[in-house]
Amino acid sequence: MKIIVIGAGVVGTTTAWYLSQAGHEVTVVDRQPGAGQETSFANGGQISVSHAEPWANPGAIRKILRWMGQEDAPLLFRWRLDSELFRWGLRFLGECRAPRTRANIRAIVNLAIYSRACLQQLRDQTGINYDQLTRGILHFYTDEHEYHHAAMAAELMRDYGLDRRPVDAATCVQIEPALDDARHLIVGGHFTPSDESGDAHLFTRRLAELAKTRGVQFLMGTPIVRLRGDATHIDSIERYNGERLQADAYVVACGSFSNTLLAPLGLSVPIYPAKGYSATFTLAEGENFAPSVSLTDDGRKIVFSRLGNRLRVAGTAEMNGYNMGLNAVRCAAIAERTQQIFPHLRTIGEPEYWTGLRPATPSNVPLIGRAQPSNLFLNTGHGTLGWTMACGSGKALADMISGVRPETDFPFLYRY
Ligand SMILES: Cc1cc2nc3c(=O)[nH]c(=O)nc-3n(C[C@H](O)[C@H](O)[C@H](O)COP(=O)(O)OP(=O)(O)OC[C@H]3O[C@@H](n4cnc5c(N)ncnc54)[C@H](O)[C@@H]3O)c2cc1C
Repeated sequence: MKIIVIGAGVVGTTTAWYLSQAGHEVTVVDRQPGAGQETSFANGGQISVSHAEPWANPGAIRKILRWMGQEDAPLLFRWRLDSELFRWGLRFLGECRAPRTRANIRAIVNLAIYSRACLQQLRDQTGINYDQLTRGILHFYTDEHEYHHAAMAAELMRDYGLDRRPVDAATCVQIEPALDDARHLIVGGHFTPSDESGDAHLFTRRLAELAKTRGVQFLMGTPIVRLRGDATHIDSIERYNGERLQADAYVVACGSFSNTLLAPLGLSVPIYPAKGYSATFTLAEGENFAPSVSLTDDGRKIVFSRLGNRLRVAGTAEMNGYNMGLNAVRCAAIAERTQQIFPHLRTIGEPEYWTGLRPATPSNVPLIGRAQPSNLFLNTGHGTLGWTMACGSGKALADMISGVRPETDFPFLYRY
């Protein structure tokens, strides 16, 4: 089949890879000059099944109210006249009920475990390198209440097959000695040895290069303005200059901007941009105080990943529309926490700050599968875990398009 994938982020690129592996003729189109230039550019770098608890959970409302109006809050809703945010917020509230949270954790753990295995297999097959480290992920806690709350979600994840185990503060420091200076702050942690880290942008770029050598065509600098067709069939996609591109099937993998193409067809997907921040520090030569086990500072919603000679610190979420501006207070909060946890870290120059828009669904469960025009497929809405779930989502969608049953138990779409 001839297939067009719209979007060359980590999700679109992995989809194209697996479609091509299944024997399809694949073209990827993206408005950016290269692959992985938007949300997949400078994320936290974690392949973290252990991060499967969605923001929407029974404890979320209390926290959001407590953080309201706090400029450096880990999760900040900037309420304003925005009907899209209002509708999304209502659905988010519905997902905070305990049975919904349990179902969402199960779906995310299943897909994320599958995805991590797909990534490992792809790495073995291709030898792709992206500053990856397979040393596990350690969640650490500096607040008793947070630690207690995390125990419940962690138990659920264990029930669903994840090796996320509780550890005391001393063991946290044994696992990652760079935490020694913060020993007095830590009340406990959870270690998931099977989780990993690596640079999502490097991976996406290199996978796109590999895909090109295997016949996938990339049309970069190509914004798509419209999907043309009716409720039963998409005929073509239209570039801004009116030119049309045709295929047998189309995949929308446009991250936070998926609605722009889908809404005119009457397919409104519940995706809202959740802005996150990252700071990338270049480490001084011989630096010994930087972590190499990827870390999650769960209470602050910040992660630390070693990417070669860089330390990526990323996280926090701001619901503020499509605004990509850097807020000085939020950047400073990330830098100050880094300094507090690693006071002896030696870096070169200023950190590089960046913001990206996570394509967040209210449940954090992505939308993967067939839409209503039957030759249209979605692979979008991966929220906080797009890097973690990309390979599994791409492989599962390629299977569905090829008429093969996906290998993981997940609520795929069969007609959205
Ligand atoms: C601060 C931060 C930290 C994060 N940390 C992690 C982490 O540690 N682990 C993890 O798993 N996930 C993490 N994430 C989430 C992850 O980065 C995202 O879920 C993932 O990058 C989404 O990938 P995507 O391919 O769906 O979207 P994108 O990477 O945004 O790709 C979408 C592509 O579609 C293209 N596009 C959109 N509209 C059009 C159009 N009309 N025409 C042509 N092209 C179009 C864009 O140019 C873009 O290239 C983090 C996110 C942020 C912001």
